[in-house]
Amino acid sequence: MSAEGQTSGQESRAIQTFSFEIHARQGRARAGIFYTPHGEILTPVFAPVGTQATVKAVTPAQLGDLGATLILANTYHLYLRPGEELVAEMGGLHQFMQWSGPILTDSGGYQVFSLADSRRVDEEGVTFKSHIDGSEHRFTPEKAIAIEESLGADIIMAFDECAPPNDRAYNERALARTHAWAERCLKVKSRPDQALFGIVQGGIFPDLRAESARFISSLGFPGHAIGGLSVGETKEEMKSILDLVDGVLPEGKPRYLMGVGTPEDLIHGILRGVDIFDCVLPTRLARHNAAMTLTGRLNLMNATFGRDPKPIDENCRCYTCQKFSRAYLRHLIVAREMLAATLLSIHNLHTLVKLAGDIRNAILSGDFEEFAADFLNRKVWEESSETSFEPPGGE
Ligand SMILES: [Zn+2]
Repeated sequence: MSAEGQTSGQESRAIQTFSFEIHARQGRARAGIFYTPHGEILTPVFAPVGTQATVKAVTPAQLGDLGATLILANTYHLYLRPGEELVAEMGGLHQFMQWSGPILTDSGGYQVFSLADSRRVDEEGVTFKSHIDGSEHRFTPEKAIAIEESLGADIIMAFDECAPPNDRAYNERALARTHAWAERCLKVKSRPDQALFGIVQGGIFPDLRAESARFISSLGFPGHAIGGLSVGETKEEMKSILDLVDGVLPEGKPRYLMGVGTPEDLIHGILRGVDIFDCVLPTRLARHNAAMTLTGRLNLMNATFGRDPKPIDENCRCYTCQKFSRAYLRHLIVAREMLAATLLSIHNLHTLVKLAGDIRNAILSGDFEEFAADFLNRKVWEESSETSFEPPGGE
């Protein structure tokens, strides 16, 4: 699909569409609204991940009910299967997957670069082998944008190179490519109804991160992402990079911290000016029989829940907690029933979506710093070492 045939009047409305309003600030935390063609995104926001144009085990109606506004889909996966042309032929991603709210697609960069043994990088792009059938493919910045335009998400990402966080020489080379590729992405982007976000890279190196934040923000993107975090660096390194990048990126545009999403990571990010988060953690934990709560992780396979009439979390208003006991959920898990994954995913996603909403309200009422201090003192999720990115082969 392309923007051909659209009038310039529509174009000017579309440009207005991607405006970002900040309604309240507390410290560096912001509560805002980002306007997209498929609706408003109240920020801070947590976006469930729908890798293959489906948030695993959850219907779009259930996603809406649990409060999701923005969801994410993966370009690499949809390019390989079913192919972006088929998605376009079926009316684009919103129509194809029946999600009428805002969608964000990544550029495929992270997935391609995580195929360590089966890809070759050059200045023009990356040649890689499919994890599905071993066939050879090539992504360039131009190709990634063409695929994202065919898919038709509201927010699309520039094609970047995510380097191992601690390798200085690699990060210098990757950063030069990421910056050149960001310019090439901007040059070929054609749809006025999509917002292209630039991505800041640079590993754990403060000078590279600062250079990247300066360069990427000089290009005039409507929003900025911070990539290459939660990929093996320490929490302290992540926080200091966020501190640094926050000081360089322009205030008035949304910031997206890619692939980061324990409850504590959300708070650390929001304290440092981040507006948008996504993570596979809630749905992945659900399929491993684990419930996420703000007081910790509950493994529902545990025999102690066998006769437990309580819901996962007595304070939770999600469908699962309103209706079902821990004993029932454990029964579903033991009997290997698919509904277990659905009910746990609904609860886990609701927990993070609502946490972001509660934080937004706390920023609006001026209570966020207290909220954050209380939460972080409990250190519930601090030690979580879950990887938050989607590997190419699925989860
Ligand atoms: Zn719940």
